[in-house]
Amino acid sequence: MTATRTALVSGANRGIGFEIVRQLARLGVLAVIGARDPEDGAKAAEKLQSEGLEVPVVALDVDREDSAAEAVADVKRLYGRLDILVNNAAILIDEPGGFNASFFDLKSDTVRRTMETNLLGPIRLIQAALPLMREQDYGRIVNVSSIAGQLAEMGSGYPAYRMSKTALNALTRLTASEIGPGDIKVNSMCPGWVRTDMGGANAERTVEEGADTAVWLATLPEDGPTGGFFRDRKPLAW
Ligand code: NDP
Repeated sequence: MTATRTALVSGANRGIGFEIVRQLARLGVLAVIGARDPEDGAKAAEKLQSEGLEVPVVALDVDREDSAAEAVADVKRLYGRLDILVNNAAILIDEPGGFNASFFDLKSDTVRRTMETNLLGPIRLIQAALPLMREQDYGRIVNVSSIAGQLAEMGSGYPAYRMSKTALNALTRLTASEIGPGDIKVNSMCPGWVRTDMGGANAERTVEEGADTAVWLATLPEDGPTGGFFRDRKPLAW
């Protein structure tokens, strides 16, 4: 990994995305905070600056096609390339009953909004970033997924969120197959249950632990895996 690598992390103004930026910046990567509210992004960047890490911010709302394309274009204009894309931004819409909520109470609007952010967001960013990565003949795409979407262990509760992460895993396989072997790698990962706004205060992991596998996948060597699903740097069944 050279010091000139650049990364764009969606939803990096807080939570696991913020920590992924911090860890990448510590490795010498020019890691860019993608934030839908630029003020929140600027506050996050200030926090990292107080730790001696210079981290730029771009406006990025993954729900908007033009915003995803503009964020990638901004990184290209500022730094000439985009080496790493971390699709981290996601939503979990609270449904009455939470993990005990029945599929039969699921609202179409919950599915639509969840898929918009958690699936269409990554699709938009990958479509914007891939042409650049192909030109560079180098790219690392990391999709932050969840074992909640793992078909092999599929449980119930939060059905819209689960299906969005299953679809994100499918997207990972699909894009990796289409790109084929070479130095552009696409992988998905589960951070574990992490103490963030989404994970809540009772979650078992710190953001440092949650970000580790994403950062490892973002900095894979040329002989690293592609099209895989990982947790704690180990492959998971789909
Ligand atoms: P948080 O809810 O703490 O943070 C979510 C981030 O995504 C925020 O920065 C938020 O921005 C951003 N975001 C949401 N919607 C959009 C959008 N339309 N455009 C741009 N940014 C957006 O979540 P976590 O940090 O916990 O989760 C990060 C990832 O890890 C997610 O993909 C999540 O599904 C996954 N994950 C988390 C687990 C956990 O236990 N925490 C477990 C398994 C997976 P804003 O501040 O503007 O709302």
